[in-house]
Amino acid sequence: MDFADRVSTLEPEGAYTMLARAQALEAAGREIIHLEIGQPDVPTFEHISRAGMQAIAAGYTRYTPSAGTTALRQAIAEDAGRRRGVTIRPEQVVVGPGAKPFLFFPTLALVRPGDEVIYPDPGFPTYPAMIAVAGGVPVPVPLSEEDDFSFDLQAFDRSLSERTRMVVLNSPGNPTGGVIPLEALQHIAEAAVRRDFWVLSDEIYSRLVYERPAPSIYSLPGMAERTIVCDGFSKTYAMTGWRLGFGILPELLAQRVELLLTHSVGCTASFTQVAGLEAIRGPQEPVAAVAAEYRRRRDVLIAGLNAIAGMSCRLPQGAFYAFPNVKSFGPAQPRGINRPSAWLANYLLEEAGVAVLPGTAFGPGGEGYLRLCFANSLENIELALQRMSIALANL
Ligand code: PLP
Repeated sequence: MDFADRVSTLEPEGAYTMLARAQALEAAGREIIHLEIGQPDVPTFEHISRAGMQAIAAGYTRYTPSAGTTALRQAIAEDAGRRRGVTIRPEQVVVGPGAKPFLFFPTLALVRPGDEVIYPDPGFPTYPAMIAVAGGVPVPVPLSEEDDFSFDLQAFDRSLSERTRMVVLNSPGNPTGGVIPLEALQHIAEAAVRRDFWVLSDEIYSRLVYERPAPSIYSLPGMAERTIVCDGFSKTYAMTGWRLGFGILPELLAQRVELLLTHSVGCTASFTQVAGLEAIRGPQEPVAAVAAEYRRRRDVLIAGLNAIAGMSCRLPQGAFYAFPNVKSFGPAQPRGINRPSAWLANYLLEEAGVAVLPGTAFGPGGEGYLRLCFANSLENIELALQRMSIALANL
């Protein structure tokens, strides 16, 4: 079939492909530990679900304004502004079905054919997808493991050009759990002001941090007028299936993104928005409790991975992913056997019954790494470690 160029390079998300493979094994009777999919394992907090159900019963089942209800936009503006130490007006907030629209739509609104867009490699697969659909030129920049997977600033400087239109940041990051330190953000912000480009800051994991808060580039001088913050409810409030996210943007850009929402999805489910309002206004203790639990699991997983011969893993500062280096199992092996990370991920699924993702599901820069999600029970994490260690020792 003949397709338009804009969709010709689109590929599925690796996590869904691996999930399907794991489920096929389960259907054949195998027992699999799922560390591939990146979503909270806890249910949506009860008071939020209750608010959503009551909203349906009360008739919140009709269209809302495309950019979201006034009440929710106001609540997000206050909350997101307070957390970033800046003033945000409700007109700068646009609500949509998930955080993904605030990756795709600002890119469609800003990037013209031939414009270059810098993004992290390894990084979330939607970044190259949205750049391709917008007709932009993808410019991947490596993350450096030595700097806990912050941006490689030298590579970043080298990748800047006259055509740089936008830089995508993701901190805390998927798939690495890396947090970009303030000094690196300052470096990027200075370049953005000097060379006049946009920054799309994906901060979906901003509330899942373990040592200290992740700084936001939005708060730096001169950046509010050239930054889009993409954030949402999926990870913070365990609401992945509700589909609720938001963007913070300069007002004129917010209006364009609102138009894209009007003509694509119309609006976000109105009962979902009521549930979101309760998430923000209601108790925040469950968020802190879940983050503390993830931290416990992280510590067990990282210690366990580092105890497996041939693996080494940095301590992720945020999100819920471990990104161990598995290069020692790779090309330069005894007998010259080539074992790229996709081979290793497959081997672990087949031999150990543990589903993980190859780093290459996040771009070529992920070769030599695996991604394991630790939003899973301690019991499963310990069992997965045992099984992986036995399977890898047999290689
Ligand atoms: N950005 C990153 C880095 C993510 O990992 C995800 C989800 O996995 C998203 C954005 C999308 O979030 P949502 O499900 O709210 O659209």
